[in-house]
Parts: sequence; structure tokens; C-alpha cells
Amino acid sequence: MDKKVRVRFAPSPTGGLHLGGVRTALFNYLFARKHNGTFVLRVEDTDQNRFVEGAEEYIVKCLDWCGITPDESPDKPGAYGPYRQSERKLSYRKFAEQLISDGYAYYAFDTPEDLDEKRKVIPNFQYGQSTRMEMRNSLTLTVSEVEELLAINTPHVIRIKVPEDEIVHFNDLIRGDVSFETSIVDDKVLLKADGMPTYHLAVVVDDRAMEISHAFRGEEWLPSAPIHILLWKYLGWEADMPKWAHLPLILKPDGHGKLSKRDGDRLGFPVYAMNWTDPKTGDVTKGFKEMGFMPEAFVNMLALLGWNDGTDKEIFTLAELEDKFSVERISKAGAKFDFEKAKWYNHEWIKSQSATHLVAGVLTELTKAGIEVNNGSFLNKIIDLIKDRCTLMPDFVAQSSYFFAAPSEYDSASVKPKWSAEKAAFFEAYAENIKLSNAVDEEAAFKALAQEKGFKPGELMLPFRIMLVGGKFGPGVFDIAILLGVEETRSRIAKAITIFNN
Ligand code: GLU
Repeated sequence: MDKKVRVRFAPSPTGGLHLGGVRTALFNYLFARKHNGTFVLRVEDTDQNRFVEGAEEYIVKCLDWCGITPDESPDKPGAYGPYRQSERKLSYRKFAEQLISDGYAYYAFDTPEDLDEKRKVIPNFQYGQSTRMEMRNSLTLTVSEVEELLAINTPHVIRIKVPEDEIVHFNDLIRGDVSFETSIVDDKVLLKADGMPTYHLAVVVDDRAMEISHAFRGEEWLPSAPIHILLWKYLGWEADMPKWAHLPLILKPDGHGKLSKRDGDRLGFPVYAMNWTDPKTGDVTKGFKEMGFMPEAFVNMLALLGWNDGTDKEIFTLAELEDKFSVERISKAGAKFDFEKAKWYNHEWIKSQSATHLVAGVLTELTKAGIEVNNGSFLNKIIDLIKDRCTLMPDFVAQSSYFFAAPSEYDSASVKPKWSAEKAAFFEAYAENIKLSNAVDEEAAFKALAQEKGFKPGELMLPFRIMLVGGKFGPGVFDIAILLGVEETRSRIAKAITIFNN
């Protein structure tokens, strides 16, 4: 690699952080880590109309939660600041003016009404090669007219003058050679009437100022690429242009079109990384975190949306991803989002973690559910016993609540039809003999007693489970009994016998 690797995640602070955005951040991050580079967070907040209070802090929190914390950001500035585009305002105008004096851009004085008028007359009106000479701009006005308009502060924008009949080429690290005919590219605004740059000018100026070497961004930005390539060239910076990598789209579960927040609302799954509260309406949109995903699983799932290591391996830690990540293995085709698969990742992650790693998250869920835990080692044992049964973190509540209190409800329908005085007698006798030194011996003792009393052990296992748990779920019933202890197991047996007898 000739140039030092510096990559950037450049979100606009406009609301919740879509999982596609997190994947863009992740791929930038992984590339930086793989090449001992720097991962920069640049906040693209030049569009004042779309700016949303609190969105920047929220993005920072989401990245932190995922464990992909930037090396340089507005909160942790490096030598390439400022890291918020709005704070760079002054630097953009001079580049826009330089483009004008070099003949690559022009002032446009058209009012919103002028533009509306054109849109009415010309279907699909685009300000560009075929229309620019009919408009009110420095290409159609005389030099003195332009000077006069500027002198009296006439509102104006600066537009790029896209060349006619040219082909703009660039090499995309994922797509190879990409080319666009300039005839389909319109004269995008570079500097707005409020003096703010548009995204197109800002992204080029900032990528250069911040010495960005590689830019991974979503495929939705591909149509903007020719404008950016032209600007790099027109500003005389071609040699410094970052290498582009347009990441495949994340598609709706049915593969038809890009996954949007609305799809999540419609199909009942999160699309944002973390809960997002709209500051105007107070509406909360649920995130993966609050839905009960482990950050490790969320990141793992995202990495595999459009990338693999060339084998069937699907579970990767962040450290493994940092090591294995390669641009060559990013696919061009869109990746379908599958919520069931996302849950599968979480389940795999939960299963593979030690209780010590899970305990903080489990405690949070239990506390939310009003369950008080005052014995840490008891909780760790419970976690080890039930983690295989948990897909999302809140599942730990349903799967463990019976350890903290005897069931208040029983699935009596599964027991009563076959309940008998003999079974009641068996459980009374068993309760007296309980040892609970280990699950294997306990099960053997239970079965021996069952046989002695003329039962098939299988007939008694389900009632025993329901006595301890309340329902037909949970890990091995003798493992449960061992954790509950002799006294509690006895008391649950006694309570349930009374209920089943009635
Ligand atoms: N500000 C753009 C966004 O919101 C960034 C596009 C880019 O990375 O060039 O996604």
C-alpha cells in the first residue's frame, strides 16, 4: 500500500442509524485495522434542513456499542479536524470559486420560481448540458451582469459544469472498472445559497483535507461518483483521490429493493442499531440492542452481509474479522437481510459465551423484569444451564424466572388428566428421599423409585418438570432441581401435589 491507510465513515446526523450504515462503518473499520490504518468519523451535517438534534451523539453511541470506535472523530480530534463539516464552512467557498475561474463551474441565479416554471414546461427537468444555456447563470449573463448581481448579494448557487460527451471512468475495488457517460449527469449544485457546500463538494474537499486513502460507502452513492471523480480532477487533486469501494445494497427479505426502516416496521424487526427517539415526536424506533442482540452477534451478522472469508465459516469475532477481512471477498450482488438468520447469529453467540461474559446483560434484563438477584454465583450457574435456550437477551427472563420464585401458574392441563393418587404418593416418597448431590445420581434414584412403584419413569418426568418450572420447558429437570436445592425442590413438589390433587 503506497499511501497510509485512512478511511472514513461519513454519516449525516439525520436520525436513527440504519444497519446498512453500521455495515459501512464496520467495513471501513475492518479495512483500517487490517492495514494498520486510521478509522475516521466525519459528521456530514451541512444540510441544515435535515439536521436532527442528538443524532450525532446517538451515532457515536451506536459505534461504541458495536465496538468499532473511531480513532479520530469530533469528540476525539486528530490532526485533520474539524471533524464536522459545518465547522469547515469557510473553506469550501474558495474551492467552488476556483472551479468557476477555471471554467468548471458557474454561478446560477435562478430563483425557486424560475426552476418550478421550467419543471412545468420540461418533463423530468434536469439542470445540465441540454438546459443550462436557457437559464439565468454566469454562462448566459455577461460578466458585468454577474458582477452586479453578486455585488448586491443576489441569492445564488454554484453548479458544476459537467462536460459534454465524455466518459468518466474509475476503478472500484469491488466492481472493477465503472464508467458513466456525462450526458446523463446533471450540473449538481456545489455551493448552496446559504453558503454551505452540498455533499458533493464537501465530500471531495474533506476527503482530500483528511487524506482519506480508501472510501467504502453504500452502493446508493454510485450515481454520485462521476461528479466526485470530475471534482477531484477539476480541482487538480486526481493523484490524491481515494480508492473507491461501493458496498452491495442490503436488500429487503424478499430481495426486492433496498431494506428500509419501513420494512422493519411492517415485518416486525429492527433496522436501527439502537433505539432511536425522534426528538420532535418522541416516537421510539426499536434497535437491535434493545431487542436483545449482543453487539458481537450484530457485528458478525453485518460482516457476513456481502462478505465471507471464502469458506463456510459464519461465526467470527471482531478480532477474527479484523484479521480475515479482504476487499476481494466483498460481493457485488446485494445481500438479502433475513431476521431469522440475524437471530441465529445471536443464539450462536449467546451459546458460546461464558456466564461471566453474559452476566451483566442478563442482570439488566432481569432487573427490567423486576427480578432481584442477590447471589451472583447462583446466577452464573443458571446462565450456564439455560443459555442454549436463549436467542435474544430478554429470553433469559422467561427461561430463568422460575429459579427465583416458585411458579405462580402451572400447565395443569398437561398433568391432571393422567394424575392419580399413586403418582401423588410417588412424589411424596421421592421428596423424602431427595439427595441432589449430582444430576446423574439423582436421575438414577428417581428412576429406580419409579420402577419400584410400578411406573415408567417417563410418565413422571413431565409432572416433575411442571412442579419445578410451571411449564414444559427448561433444561434437564435434575439440573434444575440441583440448583434449586433440596428444601426448595421439596417445597415445590408439595405445593404442586396439592394443586394437581384438586
Ligand atoms: N454523508 C453521506 C451519507 O450520509 C456519506 C456518503 C459517503 O460516504 O461518501 O451516507
